[in-house]
Amino acid sequence: MANFLAKKDLPAKWLYDYFNPFEVHKHAIKGTLYQGHSGIQEMVVAESINFGRCLVLDNELQSAELDEFIYHEALVHPALVLHPEPVRVAIIGGGEGSALREVLRHKSIKKAVMVDLDKAVVDCAREYLAPFHQGAFSDPRTELLYQDGRRYLEEVKEPFDVIIIDLTCPLEGGPSYLLFTEEFYRLVRKRLTDQGILALQADTTSLVALNTYTTITRTLKEAFPRVFPYAAFVPSYAMLWGFCLAAHGLDPRDLGPGEVDKRISQRVQGELRYYDGITHQAIFNLPKYLREAIKKQTTVNRDNSPLKEKYPGFKEK
Ligand code: SAM
Repeated sequence: MANFLAKKDLPAKWLYDYFNPFEVHKHAIKGTLYQGHSGIQEMVVAESINFGRCLVLDNELQSAELDEFIYHEALVHPALVLHPEPVRVAIIGGGEGSALREVLRHKSIKKAVMVDLDKAVVDCAREYLAPFHQGAFSDPRTELLYQDGRRYLEEVKEPFDVIIIDLTCPLEGGPSYLLFTEEFYRLVRKRLTDQGILALQADTTSLVALNTYTTITRTLKEAFPRVFPYAAFVPSYAMLWGFCLAAHGLDPRDLGPGEVDKRISQRVQGELRYYDGITHQAIFNLPKYLREAIKKQTTVNRDNSPLKEKYPGFKEK
């Protein structure tokens, strides 16, 4: 069999994006700008040839310069555009500052609180990832806190119009696994105003690891009356990525393409590159196998029974 890896014209340096024991994606890089351990997670900033600057945490690619706009516009704008007038927003996680950047583009925002556990990630973003945050950390509407997002929501008194959750891997043992449980989502609901909306990144929709996305969706249904799973293809991840929107009463499917475009033009500063009325229709219409997998899922993620493995059924030989 041909050994493609031995081809002479392949670049010498690679960044590995770990997916599972049987699938690792690799990106050719010009070099590594930063590598270190924060005490919470392993952090790498590298310059990929195809995707530009990349942030990698614990061996998993978080964001790449070329296409992070797809992920972050998909994460932030459907919720903010659906809300009648978002004024107070919280972002839980979101270290590189891109979710914050997108939130601040909404003219109605008076306060955006970003709560990330790891100051080292934000410091690293300030130093190496300016195209990602674009100065969002120093916007006068921003309040930046370094603490556990669950602890913050337990203590904060004033509710939010929108809460965006942009956390790392949800599996037991990682720093964010207790922020993917029924107990946590019930807490989030309590911290939202009556018309409040939650939007979160909900892991991969890859066929070989669907359990995480469907369990997160199922778990949200324990805490919220309306849950809307959606997905966007992120080229640097080489897969369709899962998101969820959860609300008390509002329904994103009630917004036609014209209304989404109207709200964007009235409320959002600058030009969006991914999200508009047509994209809105596309992302909330999932393919059949995903809709069926979501419908079939019965497992609810709880504090005492968190997600343990991404790949149930796999046994390493
Ligand atoms: N785009 C990402 C992805 O692909 O999954 C997630 C973005 S962001 C870099 C994830 C952030 O969540 C990190 O900066 C990490 O420090 C933060 N985080 C992890 N656990 C957390 C917790 N318990 N509370 C607040 N932030 C947390």
